[in-house]
Amino acid sequence: MTEVYFSQDIETILDRIPFEVLGKSVAIKVHFGEKGCTTFLSPRLVQKVYDKIISSGRDASLVECNVLYKGSRTNSTDHLKTAKEHGFTDMNIDILDGELGDEFIDVMGCKLGKGLEKYDSIIILSHFKGHMMTGFGGAIKNTGMGLGSRAGKLHMHSRIKPSVNQNRCKSCEICINNCNAKAISLNKTTNKAKIDSDKCEGCAMCISICPERAINIPWASETSEGLQKKIAEYSKAALSIFKNSAIFINVLQNITEDCDCLDKPQKPVLDDIGFLLSDNIVAIDQASLDLANNKGFNAVQKSIEKQPQIEHAANMGIGSKNYKLISI
Ligand code: SF4
Ligand code: SF4
Repeated sequence: MTEVYFSQDIETILDRIPFEVLGKSVAIKVHFGEKGCTTFLSPRLVQKVYDKIISSGRDASLVECNVLYKGSRTNSTDHLKTAKEHGFTDMNIDILDGELGDEFIDVMGCKLGKGLEKYDSIIILSHFKGHMMTGFGGAIKNTGMGLGSRAGKLHMHSRIKPSVNQNRCKSCEICINNCNAKAISLNKTTNKAKIDSDKCEGCAMCISICPERAINIPWASETSEGLQKKIAEYSKAALSIFKNSAIFINVLQNITEDCDCLDKPQKPVLDDIGFLLSDNIVAIDQASLDLANNKGFNAVQKSIEKQPQIEHAANMGIGSKNYKLISI
């Protein structure tokens, strides 16, 4: 049975990091919070994890990939600016999928941020909270969705290709000039952009560069269960790069109804619970969910079944749901 350590003190948790499994170059996967969010992981907390790795004589970088939608973390320049504004000022930061989010490696059919290849170990440092499409977000979500390049994120979120909102399109042709698949053209009758879904390769570049936010992401084309399963599959692909050199820390503080991608403040819906550490991505999410449910998390996003991501990850063999919670 997998051990999951639980404490209300982050230093106590950090003392349990099994350094013997970590190599020389450690990526620390975090989420810097969308501009306007106030409940993302605090930079002071992240700094403690970072300093712990550095003080062990290893190299460390905070790593992330750009987001799918148009926001403050859509390209690397804006992403780094947002991170700095949110207080992540004294740590190396590495946005893994390039300036425009189009640099990826294909691992098991999953499109992951290319920069992942530079690291030999990873710490997945996750803020546990609710999520409007997956019920909750923890280690599996932070790994699978978070390490997906923009094309990977579109792949997870959608079964169909993007489309153009004709009312918003201003016919500037920026998307046409940047689509490598030559899938976009101006409709001769309406003079608005249109996407040929047969030619579209799902790179999601047009979504990020349209200045009018006129390219629709077909969010509703995937079910929550389908999305959760794909996220678990991306987690499996990402962790395959690191073999057994991956550690998971879940932070059960500032637990909100929705995720840190929301561009507005949210109020926590539960009292803070504490910190968990494990070398098992499935066990730590199951333990986090169980602890939170004991405090009333069942009422959060209650229309969404929260187990599919855990079940699918366990069924694929990337971890076990059976855990032993060790309070320290
Ligand atoms: S970039 Fe946006 S506004 Fe410009 S043509 Fe394409 S869809 Fe229309
Ligand atoms: S998603 Fe990529 S390939 Fe598809 S239309 Fe947009 S830019 Fe072109």
